[in-house]
Amino acid sequence: MVTKSALSAFLHSHLESLKEQSLYRTLRPLESAPESWVLFQGRRVLNLCSNNYLGLASHPEVKEAAARAIRQWGCGSGASRLICGTLTLHEALERRLAAFKGTEAALLYPSGYMANLGIISALADNEADVFSDELNHASIIDGCRLSGARTTVFPHNDVETLEKKLRQACDAAPARRRLIAVDGVFSMDGDLAPLPALADLAEKYESWLMVDEAHATGVLGPGGRGVVAHFGLEKRVPVVMGTLSKALGSCGGFAAGSRDLVDFLINTSRSFIFTTAMPPGVVASAQAALEVLQEDPSLPMKVQEKASYLRHHLAGLGFNTLNSQTQIIPVMVGDVARALEMARLLLNEGLLTIAIRPPTVPQGACRIRVTVMATHTQQDLDFALGAFEKVGRSLRII
Ligand code: PLP
Repeated sequence: MVTKSALSAFLHSHLESLKEQSLYRTLRPLESAPESWVLFQGRRVLNLCSNNYLGLASHPEVKEAAARAIRQWGCGSGASRLICGTLTLHEALERRLAAFKGTEAALLYPSGYMANLGIISALADNEADVFSDELNHASIIDGCRLSGARTTVFPHNDVETLEKKLRQACDAAPARRRLIAVDGVFSMDGDLAPLPALADLAEKYESWLMVDEAHATGVLGPGGRGVVAHFGLEKRVPVVMGTLSKALGSCGGFAAGSRDLVDFLINTSRSFIFTTAMPPGVVASAQAALEVLQEDPSLPMKVQEKASYLRHHLAGLGFNTLNSQTQIIPVMVGDVARALEMARLLLNEGLLTIAIRPPTVPQGACRIRVTVMATHTQQDLDFALGAFEKVGRSLRII
């Protein structure tokens, strides 16, 4: 039997080891809503690390929709979707998401993490091969692990290597199921997956292509419909996953695809089946956020223009922003200690940022992950650039 003191010793030694490596993480509570300026440790600071890309989490119509839904439907949904947790609200949002993504159907999950876990582990098992980009989000990685599938991790965006691996897998076992899973926009690098080439490979090697639209929904493509729509591939990507938690300012994830795909997930996807349905206020806020987005199609463009300004000028100052093409801009720093120091100095200058460390990124590839919001003003961006220049010079990064 594990005694309490053995557990304490284990926990303590693990935490000490994290501290020694500068990998210890702590929570950083905000004292105000996650808007472009926030109250943090009693100070007003510019928020450069939120995924609330369009500012919809605080949009008056979105907040009002949530409050109205709570007044009408209550706070909790009371059961899992297959018991009696499905409300007409859930189905209305699923219909709207399907129309938005150009698919026959969509299915909600309580989070994007659970969506990836549930989709991958339903579609793949030990009789399947999954091909996963090395920079995919942890929820895809964990979905692969949970599925028990044979997983081949291919170098980031390396279509040639992926083709070689697909060919080998096809030659060895043509009848096995094959799933290619990628982030459409990579969450720590801000670059795009080469989706047209991946769609070609998926068709050539009879594999199913799954695209995670977490950081693309609401930001890329016509009307913010995502990266699949950005490339005009709606008819060629059979499995789309997205979140409501980022540009849509709410919470929850979804799968979008054929009616059969959704019915299959309803019947087999464990992170959909064995959990309580999303609460009414959350569903209603996501529905309202989609309405706001569809009524103001200029929102995605706004965030892209601001991101492009910031990215261009950060690069102009001499920072390495990798191949970012989106509102996610990595500012490369290198080792853990320097990244933490940079975030600390930026905070002194009035910027709330986050140092991204292993295991989220590889050793030596620590960075400040900057995210841009449509609600940042030109003045905000120039203020950020001034602070980055000062801190970058003092740390000799530029
Ligand atoms: N997929 C990607 C690419 C993400 O970056 C994230 C969250 O950071 C998720 C999935 C999980 O989404 P959620 O935060 O809604 O659980």
